[in-house]
Amino acid sequence: MKRIALLGATGSIGRQAIEIVDAHPDLTLCAVASGSTDVSVLAQAHGAESQTGGDLTELLERTQPDLVLNAVVGFAGVRATLWALENGVDLALANKESLVAAGELALAAQRRGGARLLPVDSEHSAVFQCLEGRAPESVDSLVLTASGGPFRGRSRDDLADVTPEEALAHPTWNMGPKITTDSATLANKGLELIEAHFLFHLPYDRIEVVVHPSSTVHAIVRFRDGASLAHLGHPDMRVPISYALTYPERAATPVPQLGLAGTTLVFEEPDEENFPLLALAREAGERGGTHPCAYNGANEVAVEAFLARRLPFTGIAAVVEETLARWDGDEARDLDDLVEADTRARELAGEELAVA
Ligand code: NAD
Ligand code: MG
Repeated sequence: MKRIALLGATGSIGRQAIEIVDAHPDLTLCAVASGSTDVSVLAQAHGAESQTGGDLTELLERTQPDLVLNAVVGFAGVRATLWALENGVDLALANKESLVAAGELALAAQRRGGARLLPVDSEHSAVFQCLEGRAPESVDSLVLTASGGPFRGRSRDDLADVTPEEALAHPTWNMGPKITTDSATLANKGLELIEAHFLFHLPYDRIEVVVHPSSTVHAIVRFRDGASLAHLGHPDMRVPISYALTYPERAATPVPQLGLAGTTLVFEEPDEENFPLLALAREAGERGGTHPCAYNGANEVAVEAFLARRLPFTGIAAVVEETLARWDGDEARDLDDLVEADTRARELAGEELAVA
């Protein structure tokens, strides 16, 4: 039996993870957690312990899981990510924000703890699968695909008055509100670029992003011999969730097989002019230190303001850009430093909101 701690159990990833666990005889939940919705009934039904809000590492200490599935949204997931890596507990990571903000600290914790870091983000799961068993020096570069979101093809003028309802109508994936908004601004692909840098130890100039509206190809790995391996499938998160939870078994899922006849695969350049959050992420990643943490914190503040109708859609990128322009980016030596950097980024972003 693999005992799983599911953090973010009430969310889009969390609910799909429960479906996978319930269908698999060797997986069981030992802990479930959420941010604000009570999960004690859900926990009881699974014979698991629960926690709502607070420091989730208390629940992890108490239950000592074999694997942590971190499906919390936002920087709130950072302590659980570091706890699993430090303690040598396998980590299935959906919470990309924690790796973006704490990348260096997370890798150092993993080196000490020796935990397996299994990506749940579909593109990163795809890269992980294409890379399996290959020598690092054989890899030339990675390609992450982006759907382009609901506003692909629009100009900045057309974007000025789009509403949260329009931003939340994603063309291919059905996800929580924060990541769906990030997909509409391309910040999601920006976060994923930084996530890929830390997961796969490649410099930013060897990680490319292409827009691929049908989300059929999830990622491509190019090798030095000229071969490229792609990962294809329906856009359904149960596949990468199941892969991470059952690794290396690759258990069966109810997801239908992909038919190919009549399918056309289209790829195009991302529109970085009208969707500046992708280029801003690349820049923050390349500058390193706490720049990715500031990018993430400012983005979280701006997305929340947009969803609460306190900020126009195009204001999200403006708030992040202004916050980064005021950022000195010193490295975080430990979690306290990082939390301080995140708090400071949120303060700066808050000031930018006030003038936006
Ligand atoms: P969601 O909004 O549907 O769910 C978020 C979950 O996090 C909820 O259970 C909520 O209670 C919990 N949570 C929020 N704040 C918390 C806190 N302070 N402490 C503890 N729990 C807290 O989000 P989602 O779409 O399931 O996404 C979760 C994570 O997975 C995000 O980082 C997202 O980027 C990533 N991800 C999601 C998808 C997807 O298809 N939904 C795909 C790839 C990556
Ligand atoms: Mg993704």
